[in-house]
Amino acid sequence: PLVMGIETSCDETGVGIVRGTELLADAIASSVEEQARFGGIVPEVASRAHLEAMVPTVQRALDDAGVRLADLDGIAVTAGPGLAGALMVGVGAAKAYSIATGIPLYGVNHLSAHIAVDTLENGPIPQPAIGLLVSGGHSTIMMVEDLAGKVSQLGASIDDAAGEAFDKVARLLGLPFPGGPYIDKAAQEGDRTYVDFPRGLSNAKDQEKHRYDFSFSGLKTAVARWIENQQAEGNNIPVNDVAAAFQEAVCDVLTKKALLAAKEHGVETLLLGGGVAANSRLRAMATERAAQAGINLRYPRPKLCTDNGAMVAALGSHLVAAGASPSELHFPANSSMDVTIVSLANDLA
Ligand code: ATP
Ligand code: MG
Ligand code: FE
Repeated sequence: PLVMGIETSCDETGVGIVRGTELLADAIASSVEEQARFGGIVPEVASRAHLEAMVPTVQRALDDAGVRLADLDGIAVTAGPGLAGALMVGVGAAKAYSIATGIPLYGVNHLSAHIAVDTLENGPIPQPAIGLLVSGGHSTIMMVEDLAGKVSQLGASIDDAAGEAFDKVARLLGLPFPGGPYIDKAAQEGDRTYVDFPRGLSNAKDQEKHRYDFSFSGLKTAVARWIENQQAEGNNIPVNDVAAAFQEAVCDVLTKKALLAAKEHGVETLLLGGGVAANSRLRAMATERAAQAGINLRYPRPKLCTDNGAMVAALGSHLVAAGASPSELHFPANSSMDVTIVSLANDLA
């Protein structure tokens, strides 16, 4: 199927077009430079930027793919989770395109889309698969029994998301926003063993209750304390080393718990998705440990890990191919959409 996907859950206005699992266009406009001035995402700024960028970005995607709107078999749009006002711009636009053309509309889950995007890189996903979704707002271990509708949560962060921890620690180190890519780069010149930062929820007692859960706020606090202590003693902060040691702690728990979940559920495939899956250390460590554990590891290229329209189109294409019902046009944007809801069918409650 030929499907267009629209993504506006945060600061990226993304429009992707796919045919089956083939990527035809991935147009993106971002307000991140405007946001960087504030050191974080200002929802109102994001919504306004989406409104301005939406129609030109759709046009650019159609041009890049060399297709017309009328050729599409489906339009998919992120219905949630994300910033309410930002989601509403994409959902409103997608409804308008659908009404104007009669093309079926699919309101989909942003988190499942972060997983589905892997099909564009590596083909159909073996099922069941374990998904490690690590992004600005989520750190979730997902059981993907059926990407067209049966997804459950095995564990998640009980406080900060992994990407949020990267962004907060980057700020402590005086690196720009969003900090993930800057930490990644600084860490390449750093010593990963420089400080042994805490691995959240990893001791035997926590493992009982929070087997597949994460906690990153203690790690962030530990980094903050460490920096304060050094400064109090008049020492310079070795940014590269702190970045590398922090990153090591995050990647260690993420890969350990995701592989544990795969092993304990007898699942052979582990998929990485979300912005933090672009992290070079996470990819290298997961590759090494998955090979040791005999688990088949898959992840998309870094550009497809962070928010984009192609991931929404990829999930839409999968839903159309699976014969899933389109969504009724009155569906809402759902800023806290549950991970178990892959798409809004026509029987929405
Ligand atoms: P969610 O998907 O939970 O709604 P989001 O859409 O805002 O959140 P993404 O775009 O998927 O998040 O990911 C953005 C996050 O990924 C940011 O926190 C960013 O710092 C982080 N990130 C991006 N590249 C890297 C990298 N190379 N290393 C670590 N983190 C990274
Ligand atoms: Mg973004
Ligand atoms: Fe995202």
